[in-house]
Amino acid sequence: MKTIIEPFRVKSVEPIRMTTRQQRETILQDAHFNPFLIHGSDVIIDLLTDSGAAAMSSEQWAGIMRGDESYAGSESFYRLRSVVEDLTGFDRVLPTHQGRASERILFELVGGPGMVIPNNAHFDTTRANIEHSGAEAVNLPIPEAADPTNRHPFKGNMDVEALESLIGRVGRQRIPLVMLTVTNNTSGGQPVSMANIKAVRRICDAHGIQLYLDACRFAENAWFIRQREEGYADRSPRDIAREMFDLADGATVSAKKDALVNIGGLLLIRNADLFLKASNLLILTEGFVTYGGLAGRDLEAIAQGLREVVEPDYLGYRIRSVEYLGQRLLESGIRIIEPPGGHAIYIDAAHFAPHIPREQFPGQALVCGLYRWAGIRSCEIGSVMAGPARHADMELVRLAIPRRSYTQSHIDYVAEACAEVFKARAHLRGLRIVDAPEVLRHFTAKFAEV
Ligand SMILES: *Cc1c(COP(=O)(O)O)cnc(C)c1O
Repeated sequence: MKTIIEPFRVKSVEPIRMTTRQQRETILQDAHFNPFLIHGSDVIIDLLTDSGAAAMSSEQWAGIMRGDESYAGSESFYRLRSVVEDLTGFDRVLPTHQGRASERILFELVGGPGMVIPNNAHFDTTRANIEHSGAEAVNLPIPEAADPTNRHPFKGNMDVEALESLIGRVGRQRIPLVMLTVTNNTSGGQPVSMANIKAVRRICDAHGIQLYLDACRFAENAWFIRQREEGYADRSPRDIAREMFDLADGATVSAKKDALVNIGGLLLIRNADLFLKASNLLILTEGFVTYGGLAGRDLEAIAQGLREVVEPDYLGYRIRSVEYLGQRLLESGIRIIEPPGGHAIYIDAAHFAPHIPREQFPGQALVCGLYRWAGIRSCEIGSVMAGPARHADMELVRLAIPRRSYTQSHIDYVAEACAEVFKARAHLRGLRIVDAPEVLRHFTAKFAEV
């Protein structure tokens, strides 16, 4: 059967306020053409991010009531730890308020001036935290990742030869750990193959370097391995996820993605000594080790979400729905990063609006166009996000799909809207920056239309 149906029914609804094109024009101007400055209630379909935007299940809400709010030794923590241990094999588990807190603690301990941290591609907060510690963040994607139409099945892979040569060049003493981001958010939500994780592991072992996963979308990555990698078709996503974690010495996790919750994170560390140091830093700025800046009820929701996210029915629907949106856009003539990623569709904005030069941010122009026409909020991943000091490889607009929040008819609406804006693309206008901070400028920059 062709129709994609959600493997859940709706128990509680949240109204969407419909806006007119004219209202959106005013809203866009008041927000200085930056989607991060638009109120959520002024958005019809919010595809700014998939982070923290998931709909929770009835079992997660039940967990919210069960939450044990003890300052120390909360039962909810022990339940979470046992779910995490079951899933990942890690028994040294720190809860954090979100992924970037895990990153900040980890890189305060292993980063610092002179250090180099390679990754298939660093997520923006990961890079920012590494650079904040004084270390250098290096991206080593495979060359295929730079070609938006190349349908390599594991476009998120790390270039292992580039890793070898980096280690040869800077020396293993300056590389405290290698990271692999699964799935690779920056390069389009693209998966990393088990073979690639193993190859990176072998190189790390040969040089005595630790391997960490940025495991935000570990379940989506496991599903792609099941679908695309030989020998995994009959394995459960849970089993595949475990194999991925078994290859790592640690992991930073944003629970706002594949733990299906609205807030939270995890830091997993195998090494006892490093774990102790991380625990002390956690207490300093996040909270005691059995809550880490979260409420007990949050820990319950994460524990339940981690059980649900590896369900084959959920993952099959999730990945298929994103793929469907990608196909619809391709059929409309829109160029996207192919094949579609796990959590988002990335539109090639330079191709979409060839009349807008890079200095005028074609991605940001498309973001504004989608909001104007259809009230859809999306996110630029191009020259705006890269900042003035770095060169963006591509001018992209990301349509990130929140987990379980929107129905297939919402997805159809998005596909139609994109096709209409594409037909009217000559009307998209370039932008210039009026005011922007030095780091992570995309969050607060103000723009004006050229
Ligand atoms: C979201 C994300 C992070 C940061 O997590 P937060 O919970 O937003 O702090 C780190 N890495 C990747 C790949 C992410 O997608």
